[in-house]
Amino acid sequence: DGSFVIIGGGLAAAKTAEALRDKGFDGAITVIAAEHHLPYERPPLSKDLLAGTVEAASVYPLDSDWYARYRVTVHSSVRATKIDRAGRFVLTDDGSAIHYDKLVLATGSRPRPFPGSPDVAYLRTLDDSTALRARLGEGKSLVIVGAGWIGLEVAATARSAGTAVTVLEPQELPLATILGPQVATLIADLHRRHGVDLNLGTGVASIEVDAAPGGRVTADDGTVYQADTILVGIGAIPETDLAEAAGLAVSNGVDVDAGLTTSDPNIFAVGDIAHQDHPLLGRLRVEHWDTALHQPATAAANMLGHREEYTRVPYFYTDQYDFGMEYRGHASGEHRVVLRGDTDKLEFLAFWLDDTDRVLAGMNVNLWDDGADIAALVAADRPVDPAALADPSVPLGNL
Ligand code: FAD
Repeated sequence: DGSFVIIGGGLAAAKTAEALRDKGFDGAITVIAAEHHLPYERPPLSKDLLAGTVEAASVYPLDSDWYARYRVTVHSSVRATKIDRAGRFVLTDDGSAIHYDKLVLATGSRPRPFPGSPDVAYLRTLDDSTALRARLGEGKSLVIVGAGWIGLEVAATARSAGTAVTVLEPQELPLATILGPQVATLIADLHRRHGVDLNLGTGVASIEVDAAPGGRVTADDGTVYQADTILVGIGAIPETDLAEAAGLAVSNGVDVDAGLTTSDPNIFAVGDIAHQDHPLLGRLRVEHWDTALHQPATAAANMLGHREEYTRVPYFYTDQYDFGMEYRGHASGEHRVVLRGDTDKLEFLAFWLDDTDRVLAGMNVNLWDDGADIAALVAADRPVDPAALADPSVPLGNL
């Protein structure tokens, strides 16, 4: 028994509450959640929800009935302001002090602001997505600063809705630091084919907002881009302030061990903020949906005194126009890439190999039957023959 408190209110927070009940915890569970919605999924915010083809939904199957039935108290629109580790309580901005026996931090990330904080649009929350959706369509214009995942997904959704879209990106290729030049080139071509004015190697010197969030973006080369809406997507910052103020170990996120315990044995961290000592991959912080979905079960097990380690390899997906992909593993754009299949038709696999030809990561583009084989190749951690890997007639299972 006892009293467990979760600070957050995103996917990782919701899944922690669910996992605790699944594992038989019968004590009090309180979620302190800054947003005014029940926990919901963020991936649709830049995809079908932004397109208007689906409506917002809480994290399945955790709707308001679920929280009531499982006696999980969600304090919505309430922000935790301080953790008192000695007294074991959390202070909130509505003036409460909530006692905890075990505490979970699931505070996620916030968008990295553009220097000087002009009043531009960002995309992190459901409310951001709803506001942005109303600004897309024929006759409307959008300048996106940053060709990262969110910038590119919004570019695809906005173009598909008929919006005039300009993207400014200081790197020579989008996502090249993650995917490497071959795959990054395919993604750049994809966006140009769909009519995005993609300006690579183009940094932003300044942003002047007049009718917020619209205005003028001036590039480093002096070119001025005018738009009804300026969206900045230059990365996310993990929300580690509470943890830091409480004196927990924080580096590139809240430092946790393989079982997601922080430097305080009564406090755990999951999702975007968790900088985990991953048993297979070393120190790692993953800002992806799959991690927020699955880490909570491990954290819950450890909260209940069962020793468990989180060993899943990172998984990520994106959808942009007719380019749908899944990525499994952990590599960087500097690793050697082996392609397999038809890149023109956007039906191919890509693999990232280290110097000894071990598969560090694999991606399937519009091919949905290879996920398990790719995961097995990443997990196998042994050299493969790159020529055979590139040859679609050699089954992945035979490598
Ligand atoms: P969050 O979802 O950020 O939730 C944290 C919550 O905690 C927030 O509601 C915040 O308001 C609240 N909070 C913060 N501080 C406090 C406090 N002090 N007190 C109370 N509450 C607080 N990942 C993929 O793998 N694939 C995708 O296609 C994909 N698409 C995405 C699209 C968008 C637009 C965005 C924004 C993200 C996307 N992601 C995607 C990433 C994925 O959504 C995140 O990794 C995931 O949401 C992380 O979950 P989390 O619960 O750790 O944090």
